[in-house]
Amino acid sequence: MSDAYQTHTRASHEARVHEIDLPPESFQSRLLDWFDRHGRHHLPWQKHQTPYRVWVSEIMLQQTQVATVIDYYQRFMARFPDVHALAAADQDEVLHLWTGLGYYARARNLHRAAQVVVEAHDGIFPTHGVEALAALPGIGRSTAGAIISLSTGARAPILDGNVKRVLTRLHAVPGWPGKPHVERTLWQLAERYTPDQRVGDFTQAMMDLGATVCTRRRPACLLCPFEDVCVAHTQGREHDFPESKPKTDKPTRQTCFLMLRDRQGRVLLEQRPTEGLWGGLWCFPQFESLQQARHWLDEHLPQTRLEPAWGEFTHAFTHFRYAITPLPALIDAPVCISERQRWFDPERPDSVGLAAPVRTLLDRLSSSATLV
Ligand code: SF4
Repeated sequence: MSDAYQTHTRASHEARVHEIDLPPESFQSRLLDWFDRHGRHHLPWQKHQTPYRVWVSEIMLQQTQVATVIDYYQRFMARFPDVHALAAADQDEVLHLWTGLGYYARARNLHRAAQVVVEAHDGIFPTHGVEALAALPGIGRSTAGAIISLSTGARAPILDGNVKRVLTRLHAVPGWPGKPHVERTLWQLAERYTPDQRVGDFTQAMMDLGATVCTRRRPACLLCPFEDVCVAHTQGREHDFPESKPKTDKPTRQTCFLMLRDRQGRVLLEQRPTEGLWGGLWCFPQFESLQQARHWLDEHLPQTRLEPAWGEFTHAFTHFRYAITPLPALIDAPVCISERQRWFDPERPDSVGLAAPVRTLLDRLSSSATLV
């Protein structure tokens, strides 16, 4: 290891940090110089950076790439230009505009938080402090920091996935960043480097550096303003940081989607309960097994004609995966068995949110449709 940095092993409640030979002021000026020349300055949410616009973009950008988010963001803003419009919306419509982005709890929380901002804060985001913002549904400390620094310019560090990657590599911080002691260490580094001036630019610059240079798979270290001091790079260990989440075997649950179509090609869907998996989204009636689906049909819709089940496919969630078997079936007259069901016309889709595998199966159904 070079003399340019020393290794500090701190108390066991913090991760080990390799110090770099660069004071925070130099870090800030290097990063801001890089940002002025190479940062992103024309993303849709960089125009008129109100707390509302920054908030929506930050929530969409969690778990989703910028290139995917842009269209969704523009459609969302066209329909809900401010927090009042979002608060007054039907949850179905919010979920509809979110369909395809995944992680639907984000959309439900966005909707709920908008209602809290309108009801409890007169429609004004409480940007006076991270704690007040982070009390809103779906807003964590880092998102609160991004909203405050980008929309008001006040000093508030962030620690999103991009920033974690840059900092873990820069200081060769061991351990998975999801572990509390590693995260604590990273927050300390984020605090250390965040400046008092140009805070919004600094926040955007950290995110841009992580997204465009210090990328997960192929970091472009030769283009990085910290190439000479970065510990991971100096050691040739860029890919060792950040460490991955310790692997645990995800359990697999079997499920069957009943894809019931009528003569017009409409499909029976039912709305999931608001809380829980795919909360508030519209899905095919779902059963634990093919057998259960067949029993249900025998009991409620015996006039149905079953087709051969389609091949099983999997859909992964954070903690488990579904092995889904689609069961197509035909019925002459559309009937709803419960209030939560409706007949959905894929040719003239209603403005409702659909779970991702449901959308995929509806496309496949349309393209393979040979109706009654
Ligand atoms: S030198 Fe490479 S690994 Fe280090 S921060 Fe820059 S891009 Fe990331």
